[in-house]
Amino acid sequence: MDDTDIDFHCTMCGKCCHNLRLPLTVGEAIAWLERGDDVDVLCEALPWPVEPDASNAEAIYRRQRSSPTTSGSLPTRIQIVLAASFAGPCPNLGEGNVCGIYDDRPLVCRIYPAEMNPFVRLAPEHKACPPDAWQGAPLTRGGRIVDAAMVELIERSQLASRQEIETKMKVCVALGLHEAALANEGFVIHAPERSVLLDALKHSTQSTGAMSSANGDWTYVSNRMKTVNALKSVGATSVFADTFDTEAHQYLGFFEAAAEA
Ligand code: SF4
Ligand code: SF4
Repeated sequence: MDDTDIDFHCTMCGKCCHNLRLPLTVGEAIAWLERGDDVDVLCEALPWPVEPDASNAEAIYRRQRSSPTTSGSLPTRIQIVLAASFAGPCPNLGEGNVCGIYDDRPLVCRIYPAEMNPFVRLAPEHKACPPDAWQGAPLTRGGRIVDAAMVELIERSQLASRQEIETKMKVCVALGLHEAALANEGFVIHAPERSVLLDALKHSTQSTGAMSSANGDWTYVSNRMKTVNALKSVGATSVFADTFDTEAHQYLGFFEAAAEA
């Protein structure tokens, strides 16, 4: 065994079913909303002045999961995540920490604690699982997931995130959502009313047609004035987060707010 060999056995502690923004596929988001629970729309933006070299695997990965737009005169790509949001226990968590929708639970729940993003290392210290969960059956060997069924679930989730970018962008355009955080600095969290989001998702999965020319002009939001000004200096439209937060839209920053440039 080396340090990329990880063993795992779920202790059913239930910790991973609390206080989450759980990424969902479009179909899972529709089902989640139809059960009467909330889904947010998380948006992040990547400045995209030039196309990446084909050898830049991480940039290609991001490109495949984002939509082309502009922000002012800056070419920008938008990554959109539909996320089941709850404080405290998941609305589907039952007695004994049993999932109440076990057979229909989202892919991300089936995959946990493995990572969906191949560029993110599985790090037990970053997971909710208690220390005694990290023993038992082999989870990874040589940094690779051992279980073929788990690998297939990860591949399904990656395929959905590539195939659903157009549907998610259509939802944002339909709902007038065009603010995003600078990628790796935070998220803009849009919280449309449940029935409104459900209608938009259903409509967007049914309609056809290319969207790339109609993805709208997006605004960067940041809680760091330095970022706001840097983006403006390269032609983007950007605003400071404290002028932006409302009940329907929030900025979640990874870094401390800084109003000074
Ligand atoms: S859907 Fe089930 S497995 Fe997923 S967070 Fe909720 S209770 Fe846990
Ligand atoms: S936190 Fe880990 S050990 Fe606990 S229920 Fe979730 S997957 Fe199992």
